[in-house]
Amino acid sequence: MSIDFETATFKDFENIADYDIAQRANYFYEFLDHMTAKGHMNYRLKNMSGTNATLNINIANQNKEYVSFVSSDYLGFTQHPKVKQAAIDGIEKYGTGTGATPLIGGYFDYHNALERKIAGFFGREEEEAVIFTTGYTANSATLQILMQKEDIAILDMAVHASVHEGCVFTNKKTFPHNNLEALEHILKISENTYRTKLVVVDGVYSQDGDTSRISEIYDLVKKYNAYLMVDDVHGVGILGQTGRGSLEDPGLMDKVDFITGTFSKTFGNLGGYVITNKKIASFLKFQSRQQIFSATAPPSSAGIVKAIDLIDEEPIWRERLWDNINYFKKGLDDLGLDTGITCSAIIPVKIGDQSKMWDIGRILIEKGVYTNPIMYPAVARKDARIRMSVTARHNKEHLDKTLNVFDDINKKMHIAKK
Ligand code: PMP
Repeated sequence: MSIDFETATFKDFENIADYDIAQRANYFYEFLDHMTAKGHMNYRLKNMSGTNATLNINIANQNKEYVSFVSSDYLGFTQHPKVKQAAIDGIEKYGTGTGATPLIGGYFDYHNALERKIAGFFGREEEEAVIFTTGYTANSATLQILMQKEDIAILDMAVHASVHEGCVFTNKKTFPHNNLEALEHILKISENTYRTKLVVVDGVYSQDGDTSRISEIYDLVKKYNAYLMVDDVHGVGILGQTGRGSLEDPGLMDKVDFITGTFSKTFGNLGGYVITNKKIASFLKFQSRQQIFSATAPPSSAGIVKAIDLIDEEPIWRERLWDNINYFKKGLDDLGLDTGITCSAIIPVKIGDQSKMWDIGRILIEKGVYTNPIMYPAVARKDARIRMSVTARHNKEHLDKTLNVFDDINKKMHIAKK
């Protein structure tokens, strides 16, 4: 077995026939060494510090400040003094941990306050929310308990890994991204075959930053008597008239069966949530293995309640974010670069070829800009790109510096759209 390190992806090392654990780990370690020696990215990140828009990173034993586009702390609330103070107050009152899993006594009144707050944020009743340890487990644990072998989960092929992870006990089919004909076909052939049909889409897709065709998908789901789950982790706080996410403007916040989300992005903390009806919420609280066997939301989560309030109290952060998104995207588009179909804070610069993407990632690092090169399996093999998230904490200087670096790269490497 020999893997070409130049074209390899992480996925190639996941499982190698005849290689046991130690052999696979050794081989992968060799690959990391190779990539590090070539100066590709930051496989050995050490001593990273800083906040949101800039990070101090030690690369090759040199500590330097980078403009950073890797944070999903979109509104900058991890740094907001009122959010920090609320988190500190939570710790002062309850200590630093829960000491137990929710079902056996690790469910405090601040958990309940948080559930009421996030349900209310979506205009829902107080018992219609369940909180989880992360957004990942909100998706995976919910699907794992609700979707069994008699059922089928029908996923947009671009949904998050945590959704796929949730489908281990059930049947699963994927449809090409946002392709309604393909979705309808699967719904039709599943109609009399499966007990429950659940369609899962993202509100905003994490690699292209585009939105789902949510109103049409909702209509189809109703037509075929299926359920709908929307993972809106990249939409909440950013999209919608009042920042409620991708379901707000189409008027679907009280209609979809499940809204899932995270507290680790816009709300500047850690945790996940599911919004559903009261009885399913209660079922999840008692039946989800995560609720039974794993602790959730430490007392510093009290900061999340303040962050949720700030969406309404300080809309300035969303305004700043959108100023930055529009400025940066226009700058990249004016250079002729391919930012795809984004309509959110996630802005990709599409490169295509994977090794070219690595080279661009390396030059960006050398010039003081820290981004995420993205390749297969996160995106299709020939669709490698540099992925960036813009936040309310970036300023024009950060954005102009980055645009200048892209301008230089484009002059040398001709990455503009033909
Ligand atoms: N869903 C999507 C679409 C995501 O991008 C992510 C995080 N990258 C998650 C779920 C998981 O969220 P968390 O980090 O809270 O586990």
